[in-house]
Amino acid sequence: MYLPGVGPKKADVLRKEIDVISWEDILYYFPYKYIDRSKIFKIREIDGNMPYIQLKGKIRYYETIGEGHKHRLTAEFYDNTGSIDLVWFQNIKAIQNLYKPETEYILFGKPTFFNNNINIAHPELDTEDKFFNREVGVQGQYNTTEKMKNVFLHSRAIQKIITSVLESIKEPLPETLPNYIIQKAHVTSLDEAIRNIHFPASPVLLRNAEFRLKFEELFYLQLNILRVTKYREKRLGGFLFTKVGDYFNRFYSENLPFELTGAQKRVVREIRRDMNCSRQMNRLLQGDVGSGKTLVALLSILIAIDNGFQTALMAPTEILANQHFETVSQLLEGLEIEVRLLTGSTKKKEREKILPDVQAGKIQILIGTHALIEDTVVFANLGLVVIDEQHRFGVAQRAKLWKKNTVPPHILVMTATPIPRTLAMTFYGDLDVSVIDELPPGRKPIKTLHIYSAKRNNLYSSVRQQLRAGRQVYIVYPLIEESESMDLKNLTAGFETTKEIFPEYQVSMVHGRMKPAEKEAEMQKFVAGETQIMVATTVIEVGVNVPNASVMIIENAERFGLSQLHQLRGRVGRGADQSFCILLTEYELSENTRRRIAIMTETNDGFLIAEEDLKLRGPGDIDGTQQSGIAFNLKIANLSQDGQILSLARDFALEILEADSLLQKPENVLLNRQLKKLNQSKQMGWFMIS
Ligand code: ADP
Ligand code: MG
Repeated sequence: MYLPGVGPKKADVLRKEIDVISWEDILYYFPYKYIDRSKIFKIREIDGNMPYIQLKGKIRYYETIGEGHKHRLTAEFYDNTGSIDLVWFQNIKAIQNLYKPETEYILFGKPTFFNNNINIAHPELDTEDKFFNREVGVQGQYNTTEKMKNVFLHSRAIQKIITSVLESIKEPLPETLPNYIIQKAHVTSLDEAIRNIHFPASPVLLRNAEFRLKFEELFYLQLNILRVTKYREKRLGGFLFTKVGDYFNRFYSENLPFELTGAQKRVVREIRRDMNCSRQMNRLLQGDVGSGKTLVALLSILIAIDNGFQTALMAPTEILANQHFETVSQLLEGLEIEVRLLTGSTKKKEREKILPDVQAGKIQILIGTHALIEDTVVFANLGLVVIDEQHRFGVAQRAKLWKKNTVPPHILVMTATPIPRTLAMTFYGDLDVSVIDELPPGRKPIKTLHIYSAKRNNLYSSVRQQLRAGRQVYIVYPLIEESESMDLKNLTAGFETTKEIFPEYQVSMVHGRMKPAEKEAEMQKFVAGETQIMVATTVIEVGVNVPNASVMIIENAERFGLSQLHQLRGRVGRGADQSFCILLTEYELSENTRRRIAIMTETNDGFLIAEEDLKLRGPGDIDGTQQSGIAFNLKIANLSQDGQILSLARDFALEILEADSLLQKPENVLLNRQLKKLNQSKQMGWFMIS
């Protein structure tokens, strides 16, 4: 507020719009891009196809034209080669006071075609810069909101505020990384980084500044999350499962219906090592749909049972819990292992039988939904919990499991939503990650086709062929909250049309607005094959296994994200038959959508798709991260581009914690202080779970 050019009104806007209160805040408000300002164009050279450019010249006169919302201010701007129109739609009075005719200005703006004429709307005008080093060429651009612009807090104004802050600070900025890290990571000082990120003295110094600030941001993020891991390892310990015994061996030699894939074998080894090293396992198992995660879970469970422990297998929905129960019971036939199912709809009588048996340690595998982690469920000796479909269970829920035994049980979480490595390290950085990157042999890859909605009629005869051959079909409609009633109408209309087109078949409909029991019942009909077509929203996204379903039709595919499309597609292709995924869209598609559709038709590789998704959408939008309520704002690092810096930062954090897990050594005092400070700001708060 007391800075030159700010004052109470602008200070208020800065606080409300971008959370900037202190000098430090504004110094950490980094440019979102840099533009080349080394070249000044002549007006004669301008065409309507240029990016932001600079001109040097004077305003000849102003003119206001139009009424109401068409009211605008224009000016003629000229240099010694010609003239061009400038136009403003807002702040018309103020502009005329600010920029005087016949004064020389450097103009910065983007020429555009308008009314058959090239003009520049809302240009920035400045007298020759006193602080900007034109020799260097690049200049930072700052994001500003509409409200900021209304009080003239545009990019240049931010830059001026930062200039005066930096000019007022005579001492170097206090360092935020210990000296030994600065030396070892070869990063520049904070002072040099901050000054150069705003006013690059050279392209090299700008790159160094970016590197330092990104490294620091990711380093503290990793240090924070890995500290939790270390705490868990040091304080909580874990059960030792030393032996592989009878159950495992008998199952492996007598019951296992097929050879494990190489990837499955590798992952089982990783898990076995985890459970035999006196630390609590916290492992994330990623594997594309159909990659055979259940079997890996079961083998881990058998190891736990061989060591005399109980186990729990938790699924996000009752249908999935039911399916797991059936699969597991079948696979374990003849082994005399006690398996029970416990969900919200388990009858009271049944429940009253199960709970004491669990408490007495008689039940070796308890399968169910969230109901499993309720306080009423008490185990005699719970040693391993497997959680299927990870992103429905947050860190806090996992932590609740730690209290289920004197020593926390080992935890294996399985997800079919592949997460790019950088995101996994950031969001699930406290988990070790295993990957099943290989499908069982003999699977036919799903064929994915893109068809325009207008040509859907051709589609129905092929669908009918599939139905005649005894297959089942999904038809999925988008449903988003903002346009919910519209979407529901489309869904219901789709349901009616489908019944008309296929009168000889039974059609189910499922959506999130139905009562859970109703939904489950309808789902169950489809699972049992009583209905052949399922019209639904994305509620069927997670985990349902109907191997007989061979066609997935996605309406308005343009409205789905890549990962979501891939998840949906995973509902088919689970049997031996050739499966198909049909993406229906309108003709007109944005470039981004075309890219998404192209990726879907080209590949079935979930990891590749997840990486592409990250590139196309940015990390904030990735499935799972939003759902689990994880919101965090990185100021400068970009998880889709800075994977290498992230790895480096993680290595540093690991090494430091290895030697000083509580960060108590004198050289690490600064680290502790920074973490406290960052955790108080909302930036990293979500990591703290205990
Ligand atoms: P997901 O990883 O999606 O949970 P599942 O565990 O449900 O996958 O496995 C999908 C199907 O593949 C199941 O029918 C399972 O029996 C089968 N399967 C798993 N592992 C193998 C294997 N090594 N060889 C052949 N089929 C397998
Ligand atoms: Mg599964």
